Amino acid sequence: MSVSAVVPPAAAVARARTLLCVPATARAPREMAAEVAAAAALGADLAELRLDRLAGFAPRRDLPALLAKPRTLPALVTYRPKWEGGEYEGDDEPRFEALQLAMELGAEYVDIELKVADKFIKFMSGKKPENCKLIVSSHNYDNTPSAEELASLLAQIQATGADIVKIATTATEIVDVSRMFQILVHCQEKQVPIIGLVMNDRGFISRVLCPKFGGYLTFGSLEKGKESAPSQPTAADLINVYNIRQIGPDTKVFGIIGNPVGHSKSPILHNEAFRSVGLNAVYVPFLVDDLAKFLSTYSSPDFAGFSCTIPHKEAAVRCCDEVDPIARDIGAVNTIIRKPDGKLVGYNTDYVGAISAIEDGIRATQQTHSTVSPLAGRLFVVIGAGGAGKALAYGAKEKGARVVIANRTFARAQELGNLIGGPALTLTELENYHPEEGMILANTTAIGMHPNVNETPLSKQALKSYAVVFDAVYTPKETRLLREAAECGATVVSGLEMFIRQAMGQFEHFTGMPGLSGKLLRLFE
Ligand code: NAP
Repeated sequence: MSVSAVVPPAAAVARARTLLCVPATARAPREMAAEVAAAAALGADLAELRLDRLAGFAPRRDLPALLAKPRTLPALVTYRPKWEGGEYEGDDEPRFEALQLAMELGAEYVDIELKVADKFIKFMSGKKPENCKLIVSSHNYDNTPSAEELASLLAQIQATGADIVKIATTATEIVDVSRMFQILVHCQEKQVPIIGLVMNDRGFISRVLCPKFGGYLTFGSLEKGKESAPSQPTAADLINVYNIRQIGPDTKVFGIIGNPVGHSKSPILHNEAFRSVGLNAVYVPFLVDDLAKFLSTYSSPDFAGFSCTIPHKEAAVRCCDEVDPIARDIGAVNTIIRKPDGKLVGYNTDYVGAISAIEDGIRATQQTHSTVSPLAGRLFVVIGAGGAGKALAYGAKEKGARVVIANRTFARAQELGNLIGGPALTLTELENYHPEEGMILANTTAIGMHPNVNETPLSKQALKSYAVVFDAVYTPKETRLLREAAECGATVVSGLEMFIRQAMGQFEHFTGMPGLSGKLLRLFE
């Protein structure tokens, strides 16, 4: 079933806001208490005390201190056994005793695994304090079961008498998360409190978007490296980047579709842009393997627009119902809008973003204010024949440059060369290519991109032939290619300039509002 079928009508069901829980995972009780204080300072709503992480944990000695009142945050106490992904290796009884003690000491929430929930409840023999909520949890570290299996799991957990249901599964592809969203919406309608999260990088959106679908809480780590589950975002990112406090049923969802996508700065940029104009929208990274499947699964009008990056820009042309003529000529779509009638329309904002950045970079070194493009008549070498390569080649040709394509896969260089009427080179031929002075070079491959920052697409020796060098890679801002080109005396233009300009174009498509150049640029200063 697609997510279109499960998105609730805006604000249809009154509900509490989704809480932000920071797991405290330190090895020593004193450090764990310090983590809770730090979580409170960050703005978390509660902290999860992961007792199984404590080295030499002695419940009667350590719990009174950990749960001493007044506390900075409500406590969720978890003592996870190894067989459910935790670190506790002993018998159930001492574990149950510790959890019972936590309840008696006033813990607001206690988590128990479904497999032993009945046994634990029997152990408690009706002595659960009124103000303590019992979370009955199930963790699947392999996959996300079918919708029917999830529904049956939900019923099983509810049957234990849980106050709050917790289901955590693992995504093998991003469409798995849609089944968790369906369960969240179902529970919201039935007023069943549920924590529903999908682990690993393909499940990331579940952690950010659960407030939209009515999840009881989401976890955010205190800092990078302190995650309690794979691909958990930091609490600071959830609050400051994704603005989760503002996410509700009628929040529009935008995002960047790519693979890989974790390095992208687009979420920072677009969320800040949405925030600055007060738009009820969130922008997330979508780690996508199969674009067509992704678009048909997340087909609700609430999934309103997408940026497209490696390796989906060309497939995006085929997946859109309508494609802007320039994007069709380029053969690559980097922006997809879902119209109110559900039709997908594709655009390309890379082309204007890159070409205007290079033109402005050259103009900044010239005295003249000519309206003629500084690219006109110049020999313009594009390395790469993918989405960005096509955009650059098309744009340079439009401006009157003589375009040459060099690519690892020579056949693709030839194909693009034929399309724009320019010669094709192998990367080896490019090393000795020097037909004239004043050439412009544009790298549109990912060579040199973080973490491979020591790689470069062309030797420093060969760079001496170029007057202007542009690199589409923008992480890092100064790539090895740009550093060496500058050392050779070339004018260099950073991919960050292109990135901001193409993002401004996307923002206009997403919102119908003009771009926010000044504000967006300042984000990266
Ligand atoms: P794409 O469609 O997948 O194309 C990738 C191109 O890079 C292909 O020509 C590929 O050659 C070549 N390539 C990849 N790895 C290579 C390697 N190890 N050695 C030699 N060539 C290699 O990707 P894209 O969307 O065009 O993006 C390419 C780069 O541009 C990425 O780094 C992306 O982040 C950057 N970009 C930046 C912006 C910005 O705003 N600054 C915008 C768009 C893209 P083959 O044909 O041989 O596979």
